[in-house]
Amino acid sequence: MEGTPKATEVPGRRRNPHGSLPALRALVQGAYVLFFLLAGVEFHRFYLQSVSGAPLTAHRPPAVEAFLPISALMSLKYWILTGNYDRIHPAGLTILLAALVSAFLARKVLCSWVCPIGGISRALEWAGRKTLWKRRKAEVLLPLWADRALTAPKYLLLLFFLYAVAWTMDGAAIETFQRGTYNRAADAKMLLFFTEMGASTAIVLGVLVLLSIVVKNFWCRSLCPYGALLGLVSWCSPQRVVRDRESCIDCRACTRACPVEIRVHEKPSVWTPECTGCMSCVSSCPVANCLTVTRRREASWTPYLVPLAGLGTIVLFWGVARSAGYWNSDVPLSHLADAYRLARELVHP
Ligand code: SF4
Ligand code: SF4
Repeated sequence: MEGTPKATEVPGRRRNPHGSLPALRALVQGAYVLFFLLAGVEFHRFYLQSVSGAPLTAHRPPAVEAFLPISALMSLKYWILTGNYDRIHPAGLTILLAALVSAFLARKVLCSWVCPIGGISRALEWAGRKTLWKRRKAEVLLPLWADRALTAPKYLLLLFFLYAVAWTMDGAAIETFQRGTYNRAADAKMLLFFTEMGASTAIVLGVLVLLSIVVKNFWCRSLCPYGALLGLVSWCSPQRVVRDRESCIDCRACTRACPVEIRVHEKPSVWTPECTGCMSCVSSCPVANCLTVTRRREASWTPYLVPLAGLGTIVLFWGVARSAGYWNSDVPLSHLADAYRLARELVHP
């Protein structure tokens, strides 16, 4: 570590008591990747049985609606306008609400601890570090202008979706969309996007994989409008990482650990909507109580509270939605099968 004083020279330097956080995060993220993979396999079986008319032994996991964020955004607006909760994809709306509340309480914990795409991005970045960049001694950060250019597209995408949904669609237009065959088959269309991908889709995914190996968290930082929305909500969050300038030894371990290249070592506190609340910076700081959560020094919150609050919110919403009947779709299986059979031909209305 260039320019870093030895442990014995630095008062307060110690083994980080939160050093197990990255392993815990990898474990939780890995579990969610596995969960969504299994959910995808089960949904694929359900889809095949539905379209063929075979006896149903598989079931449709409601969690697949997490991948229908535009439909969930429409449902949110419809719920605000009419008070009616979406009965076609209720889990999608529940997941969006849970994500928004968790972003306020615990920043983008959904991105850094739950989202399977975030988990895969992290694994790709790790693979790049262990192979391509193995010989690199120091962290190379993108210049600020390049970092801003990299993060801008996701906000533009979010702006486009907010304009298309929140601005141009009224309640009647949303209701027409929700009841349409396209919306009912939206989960099947998403499935077919991956299981029957054409050459151009495969090329785009291949490029994204390569970029994720070279650029830390490329998809999340640059292209995900869901993450952009959560980031804007998290801007209002009272929770943030704070740095004690007096005890900081400028070792930059925090910045090196940050998956989105925030220059933590230069900031008195991390307010940016790019912060995912992963706590990698806090768990890598070698100085006792130098990098803490929300309050400085001993008065700070334990960093474990951040994932606990975020994950707890998601589990709470899931539990309440399940018991109150806002998790499983009301669409009869026969209607679903009819929509799925048309999925390949359906185009966005
Ligand atoms: S600033 Fe810290 S908590 Fe925020 S993304 Fe970077 S490493 Fe994670
Ligand atoms: S805040 Fe960052 S730069 Fe300062 S001591 Fe901690 S890890 Fe090093």
